[in-house]
Amino acid sequence: RFAIAKQYSHEKAATLDGTEVEVTANISCREDAELAVKHGADGIGLYRTEQLYFGREDIPGEDELLETLQETLAPINTNIPVTLRLLDIGGDKLLPFLNHTNISEPLMGQRGVRFLLNFPDLLITQLRSFLRLSLSRSVRILVPMVTLESDMQAVRKFYEEAANDLSCHQPPLGSMIETPAAALCAETISKYSDFLSVGTNDLTQYTMAASRDDAEVADYFIHEHPSIFYLLRCVAKAADKKPIGVCGQLAGEANAVKRLLAMGFQELSVNPFQVPYIKQAVQDIYM
Ligand code: PEP
Ligand code: MG
Repeated sequence: RFAIAKQYSHEKAATLDGTEVEVTANISCREDAELAVKHGADGIGLYRTEQLYFGREDIPGEDELLETLQETLAPINTNIPVTLRLLDIGGDKLLPFLNHTNISEPLMGQRGVRFLLNFPDLLITQLRSFLRLSLSRSVRILVPMVTLESDMQAVRKFYEEAANDLSCHQPPLGSMIETPAAALCAETISKYSDFLSVGTNDLTQYTMAASRDDAEVADYFIHEHPSIFYLLRCVAKAADKKPIGVCGQLAGEANAVKRLLAMGFQELSVNPFQVPYIKQAVQDIYM
């Protein structure tokens, strides 16, 4: 179906009645960044930074992180917005150099922001390297697996301290909405967030009670289930004019685009290969 997009457009896509949509890319390495540029992504809607930590014996330091981020993002113009996600570790993605305690239900356990708040040094190192990167390019910072407003309050405290310490401005700090609780109570989380991005992969997994990696329950893992659209509507209503986007697999489903735009989502972040295809889908829509 990628063949449907006839050409790569480097212009922003707009619906037939003129609503502009940001079609951005999800990346996790330099090769993805190159593909995002080639396929005309308007920005990076989700940079998954986990790869910077895998296959190592130790935690990368602030300077090393900054250097790797700069290298990975080198193909992307510095004025193009890049959304850096803080480490989404835990669950099934464990780091050998950290002492993980016994986890009985990894996906329900200490992952994402829960994990970061338990290892504040790791969080601070990431925040500082992201802030230093923001001195030379346009960035936004995204917090994974936010469930409670206190998750954001706690991260913001570390964020403000790091920014003060470095005497730098604070780029937008946003929440990933990927649990049903966060979606249903997005209004409270939104108060502590500069933008919201819905991760529909995890949101689908937790809403449908079906693991995203388990083929035996694949029939229950339904991105376009009415319950998911219900939750997306809750998020859109709660956002109160703050920027909202979708960065899970649902954003790359052409037949879902119209419904997402009608709800008020302004950014769709997809696999780099899907960018032209989703831009085309946007351009065919009359709202
Ligand atoms: C998601 O959960 O939808 C998402 C975009 O994040 P990840 O796939 O990295 O968990
Ligand atoms: Mg996720």
